[in-house]
Amino acid sequence: MNTTPPTNTPLNATPPNSTPHSDRTSKRSVGSSQRSVRASKRSAAASHAPSADYVKPELPAGHERQSEFGFTVGTRMANGRGRTGVIRTPHGDIATPAFVVVGTKATVKAVLPRDVKELGAQTVLSNAYHLYLQPGHEIVDAAGGLGNFMGWDGPTFTDSGGFQVMSLGSGFKKVIDMGSDGAAVGGGADDAVAPGHERMANVDDDGVWFTSHINGDKHRFTPEISMRVQHGLGADIMFAFDELTTLHNSRRYQIESLERTRRWAERCIIEHFRLTDERAHRPYQALFGVIQGAQYEDLRRQACQDLAAMPFDGFGIGGALEKEHLGTIVGWCAEELPENKPRHLLGISEPDDVLWAIENGADTFDCVSPTRVARNSAFYTDYGRYNLSNRRFREDFRPLQPGCECATCTTYTRAYIHHLYKAKEMLSHTLISIHNLAFTVRLVDRAREAIENGTYEAYKHTVLSNYYGGHGSPDGPAS
Ligand SMILES: [Zn+2]
Repeated sequence: MNTTPPTNTPLNATPPNSTPHSDRTSKRSVGSSQRSVRASKRSAAASHAPSADYVKPELPAGHERQSEFGFTVGTRMANGRGRTGVIRTPHGDIATPAFVVVGTKATVKAVLPRDVKELGAQTVLSNAYHLYLQPGHEIVDAAGGLGNFMGWDGPTFTDSGGFQVMSLGSGFKKVIDMGSDGAAVGGGADDAVAPGHERMANVDDDGVWFTSHINGDKHRFTPEISMRVQHGLGADIMFAFDELTTLHNSRRYQIESLERTRRWAERCIIEHFRLTDERAHRPYQALFGVIQGAQYEDLRRQACQDLAAMPFDGFGIGGALEKEHLGTIVGWCAEELPENKPRHLLGISEPDDVLWAIENGADTFDCVSPTRVARNSAFYTDYGRYNLSNRRFREDFRPLQPGCECATCTTYTRAYIHHLYKAKEMLSHTLISIHNLAFTVRLVDRAREAIENGTYEAYKHTVLSNYYGGHGSPDGPAS
């Protein structure tokens, strides 16, 4: 196959504020510069608009190895958007809709891969940003890829690192003001850095400088570097490098950012196909383009049309979303994106969010919540989420969720796990995580069955009325 030469990063660019970049950055920014894209040294705050001198690269129509990945639509919902399907990867099939379990640092926190498999999970997503910083994608590559490295033999995803670079790397929630006491949504606070904090991620046309949350080192991510990192990590499904905006950014900034993300998507494809040829000995890795556009219908639809015209294997729906608009935004995207390619919604797991996403056409989604809240002793039941540290569970010898067939519920009681948590025993994290993951995976599996059986509306009504019914007890209204 033919591709135009890759657009490589200028390796001698210096980060804003003239902070010398670390040796680590220099070592990682491998590759030769074949076409110079000038890196703006200005921060996002100083310059928003992508430069006018961008030369659109000639994109190939596709790559012959893309046939090693596939998606088949099964049953369609009457609304024309929701559907079941099967994603085919070199490490196995994923029946969709599917919940993707998050294993940020190549581990689902506190849970062995064999237990992740036993609870019914089909696939795991790790974070390119975290694994790039620690232990480094070269080590994961040398281990034979993410699945081999972590002892998981099923399909895997990695995100592009964009979200973490621009959120964790900058301490987004602490440093960039995402709170409701900031500017109104779309109100134009394009440099919403909280008072007293330093911006630690700087976006320019070519990529992002960011500060490691581990040791403060400066690092550079560009579309090409993200592709090299993700090819090294070796997941079956990867995401194109995109710019994360907040709901507070002005519409003007969202438009400019969208153009930057589109250009980055083109560069990701070119570098991805180059690496696919270079690494022909490795299983094919699929690349998903990421749809941004915040809460604006015209921008979301435009982003879908732009990315749908590129030879991506699937699509991620990203960016800041307000909960009440989630289903609507997913629906816009489903209407614009090609039917025969899978759609992943990044970062949701609450039952209402999941069901809205499914009926509006999302095939897969991931979220850290099931394991994150477990470590704070919160457990899911059909009748809502409860905190196991509450005294009411001290002598409660029922399982977390009666009838749940997970390894935790078939063996252990609320009283026992309450004790473990109070005694600060690590096993409480493991046991609650297994149950919460099983609960979430089952919620989605049953949604899939309901679509196939034509009973989705009834299923959704039962799930939501039970979960949000305000019963005040994990055992429902009868207890
Ligand atoms: Zn359970």
